Amino acid sequence: MSLTLKIIIGMVLGFLTGLAINIFSLNDNQVINLYFVDGLFDTVGSIFIASLKLMVVPLVFFSLSTGIASFDKNKKLSLVATKTVALYLFTTALAITIGLLVAIIVSPGSGLNLTTTVDYITPASPSIKSVIIDMFPTNPISAMAEGKMLQIIIFSIFFGAALRSIKDTNSDLIKIMESITNVVMKMVFILINFAPFGVFCLMAALFSTQGVGVIGNLFQYFLLVIFVLLLHGLVVYPSLLYIFTGIKPLGFYKKLRPVMLFAFSTSSSNATMPVTLKTVTQDLGVSPKIASFTIPLGATVNMDGTAIMQGVATVFIANAYNIDLSSIDYLMVILTATMASIGTAGVPGVGLIMLAMVLAQVGLPTEGIALILGVDRLLDMVRTVVNVTGDSTVSAIVAYSEDALDIKKSK
Ligand code: ASP
Repeated sequence: MSLTLKIIIGMVLGFLTGLAINIFSLNDNQVINLYFVDGLFDTVGSIFIASLKLMVVPLVFFSLSTGIASFDKNKKLSLVATKTVALYLFTTALAITIGLLVAIIVSPGSGLNLTTTVDYITPASPSIKSVIIDMFPTNPISAMAEGKMLQIIIFSIFFGAALRSIKDTNSDLIKIMESITNVVMKMVFILINFAPFGVFCLMAALFSTQGVGVIGNLFQYFLLVIFVLLLHGLVVYPSLLYIFTGIKPLGFYKKLRPVMLFAFSTSSSNATMPVTLKTVTQDLGVSPKIASFTIPLGATVNMDGTAIMQGVATVFIANAYNIDLSSIDYLMVILTATMASIGTAGVPGVGLIMLAMVLAQVGLPTEGIALILGVDRLLDMVRTVVNVTGDSTVSAIVAYSEDALDIKKSK
């Protein structure tokens, strides 16, 4: 049985177990709660996510700096970086535009006529200025200790670029760093084998407490976000892949299934990053030199699924409060959500906090977030799948343009 199938079975069984516990309120039973939901499921699920996260910092530092250092001296690093960042920004802006357009047509939330404020304390969202300043590290060790991804990426690029410029005299160091990268990759391999159990526990723990009943009167909003996420994942990405590389999408996205399953069950682009890097380099043929840059960067700044949710949520909240948005407002939403996606850490639920920044920008009541809070955990799972699919698609496109894609593998 393939590992992907095992993970799917673990996921479905976990979902059914959690659902059964929720429907029959078995959670109220002390023994079941203590030993299973809060015990076995939550403990094993948390350890599984912790072990994935454990790989992230060493993997980013070693693979990214070696990738940069061993980059062909005749090739322009800045060109690869520009192409990657431009594509990430473009796909995010496209995602939120589609989200807004579909939401404006369907007009979810109309008729709710909310005027009173809901009892909800808006989480503080950072300003754009502080997001930009916070990208630059003051201390590499504390950036790594605190897992500040953008700071780690910037330090690793800087380190790798310096090493590249003196690589003729420092080739031993590059070899050592390459060996360490291989060891960390091997660790990722070993961990992936535990995924069926980890995924089972994560699903069971989540659905025992989070029943699907929460969808209730948010059904229209929920379906709309899912619809746009599917549209982006099943139409936009495959089209971009085909247009830019000529690769037939079916085989490509089939190979990406394990990554999608990890993203769905962990709701975290960051925790999924080691698996994305492994799959993209080993199964899809993207050269590690490209992927070691595009994947960590994407897991940190490219959140198309999150942007889609933010677009639909903005229209929903505006409708619910009967506030009209002008076309300038929509443009501001596109700009702010694209910036917000850079500042959104790839961990569960952060997209919702960054939504406060988008709402505030166009003068919508940020406490409107409370309206959609109930279904956000479920949507987070699906939008994280879109986020990581976007990272992988852009990686393949950039690699193709740099002649660093093994087409035979990616078909
Ligand atoms: N969970 C998402 C991710 O990790 C971020 C978010 O939308 O909250 O990609």
